[in-house]
Amino acid sequence: MGKGFFNVPIAINEPVKSYAPGSPEREAVLATYKDMWNTKIDVPLYINGKDVATGNTKTMSAPHDHQHIVGTYHLAEKSHVEDAIATALEARKTWSQLPWEHRAGIFLKAAELIAGPYRAKINAATMIAQSKTVHQAEIDAACELIDFLRFNVQFMTDIYHEQPESTSDAWNRLEYRPLEGFTYAVTPFNFTAIAGNLPACMALMGNVVVWKPSDSQIFSAKIIMDVFKEAGVPPGVINVVFGDPVMITDTVMDSPDFSGLHFTGSTYIFKELWKKIGNNIHNYKTYPRIVGETGGKDFIVAHKSANPIQVATAITRGAFEFQGQKCSAASRAYIPSNLWETVKERIIEDVRSFKMGSPEDLSNFITAVIHEGSFDKLAKYIDQAKSDADAEIIVGGNHDKSKGYFIEPTVIVTKNSKYTTMCTELFGPVITIYVYDENEYSETLKLVDETSEYALTGAILATDRYAIDEATKALQNCAGNFYINDKPTGAVVGQQPFGGARASGTNDKAGSALNLLRWISPRMIKETFVTPTDYRYPFLG
Ligand code: NAD
Repeated sequence: MGKGFFNVPIAINEPVKSYAPGSPEREAVLATYKDMWNTKIDVPLYINGKDVATGNTKTMSAPHDHQHIVGTYHLAEKSHVEDAIATALEARKTWSQLPWEHRAGIFLKAAELIAGPYRAKINAATMIAQSKTVHQAEIDAACELIDFLRFNVQFMTDIYHEQPESTSDAWNRLEYRPLEGFTYAVTPFNFTAIAGNLPACMALMGNVVVWKPSDSQIFSAKIIMDVFKEAGVPPGVINVVFGDPVMITDTVMDSPDFSGLHFTGSTYIFKELWKKIGNNIHNYKTYPRIVGETGGKDFIVAHKSANPIQVATAITRGAFEFQGQKCSAASRAYIPSNLWETVKERIIEDVRSFKMGSPEDLSNFITAVIHEGSFDKLAKYIDQAKSDADAEIIVGGNHDKSKGYFIEPTVIVTKNSKYTTMCTELFGPVITIYVYDENEYSETLKLVDETSEYALTGAILATDRYAIDEATKALQNCAGNFYINDKPTGAVVGQQPFGGARASGTNDKAGSALNLLRWISPRMIKETFVTPTDYRYPFLG
C-alpha cells in the first residue's frame, strides 16, 4: 500500500432474515427455488478464468428427491488439474504483488453481492443441493459466507498492523507474504459458507488456489464461483476442479510447488492427506501448511441443577437441525437421573412435532440426509440399535429412501456409556443419551472426556456455578468450542471462532485471524540508516 494507510469498513454480522409468511425474502427464495428446480444447469470446471467442459459428466440431484435431475457437472482428467496448477502459478506473479486494498475490495464486493443480488440464488441452491431448510440455508450460505468475507478483510488488516519495534537507527518492518507456490482447498458438502471461505481466505491473503468442492455441493459451489467472478477475482487465482478426489489430490500433492492444504471434512480423509504430504515431503520447495477441520462427537452434559426443559431444547435443536449434519451437532448426551423423566418427555414431544419433507415446504423442520451412502450408514446403526440389548430407541427409528434420503430424527438411550453410537461420528439425525446417577457428576465428566477421539464442540447445562467451573476445567481438552447453558451448535464468525483439536482437526479457528496466519509467511525487513564501516567494536580497543 503505497499511498495511504487505509481503514477497511468495520465488519458487522449480516442480519438473519426471517422468511416469515408475507416477507419479500420468502417470495424471492421460493420463486428462485422453483426456477432452479425446473432448469437443468451444466457446471464446467473453471480454470484460468475460463469454463472448461470436459464432456465427461455426472448428474446432480436433490437429496430430498433423488430421481429429479437438476443438472450435470464435468469431471476433470489429470491434465486439467495440471492446467489448474500451472495457471495458478502464472496468476501468482501478479496476484501476489497486487496491493492488499484491491484484494480486500474484491472480497468485500463478493460479500455485498451475496447480501443483495445473489442472496436468493445462493440460498435456493443450498436448499436444493444440500436439502437445507430456508433458515439453515440463510444462516449458512448467505449470512455465514458474508461474515467470513467481511471479517477476514478486517482480520487481514489487523495482522498487517502487527509490526515490530524499531530504533532511531534501524527500521524493522514485517511483511506478510503469501505462501510461495499454490494452495489447495478441499471442502465438505455440509456448509456452502465453508466451501466459499476456504479458497477465498487463502486468496485474500495473496495466495493462488486450486479448489476441489464436494461432489454433493457442486450445485451451490457454482453460485459461489459466479459471485467470485462478478466480484472480480482475476483469472487463475481460484481454479475449480471436480472429479476423482484421489487423482486430483495426488496430482496436486505431487507438485513441488504445493504449499498448503486447507481441508474441511472427515477425520480419516484428512489423515490420509496428511500422510500423502508426509510421503512427498522431500519433493516440496517449502514445508506445506496443513489446516484441517474434521469430525466430531459433540456432547451435551447436564448437571442435576440444570433446567430440564432447557436441556431438552438444547438436545432437540443441537442434534436435529440440518438433520444432525453440522460438524458441531450434538450426538451424545449425559443426563442426570433426577432430570431424566422430564427431559425425556419433552424430547419425545418435540421430536414427534417435527415435520419432515422437502425444504420447499417451509413448514418442514427436517429434510433429507445428503446421499445414499450416508442414508445406508445411518439406517444400519439405527437398525442395529433396535436389536441391541443395551440400547433402546425412545423416539424415531424409521427411514425411507424411496423418494429422498429421509431418516427420522432418532433418540437412542443406552445403559452402556461406551455404546458404539456414543463414540462413533454418524453425521445424521441420531443422538444417543446416557442417563447417569445424579451423584456421579465428576465421574461422568471424566467419561465425557475419555469416550471419543474427537474434541470439537460440547455444552454444559447447569445453574450451580461450581458445577459449571468443574466442567469447564475437566472438559478443557475435549471441545475446541465449549458452550455454557446453550446448545453446542451455531458458531458465528467474529464472535465464536470455530475449530477443534484431537481428531477434530488442527484447531486453526475458521473465522478468526488465527486461520489467516496460516496462509502467510512473514518476511522481516531491517533497514539500517547509518551502515557501519569498521568491523572493530569499541571493546576491542
Ligand atoms: P468427506 O471427508 O467425505 O469429504 C470432504 C472432502 O474431501 C470432499 O471434497 C471430498 O470429495 C474429499 N475427499 C473424499 N475422499 C477423498 C480422498 N480419498 N482424497 C482426497 N479428497 C477426498 O466429508 P463430508 O461428508 O463432505 O463432510 C462431513 C465431514 O466433515 C464430517 O466428518 C464433519 O464432521 C466434517 N466437518 C467438519 C467441520 C469442522 O469445522 N470441524 C466442518 C464441516 C464438516
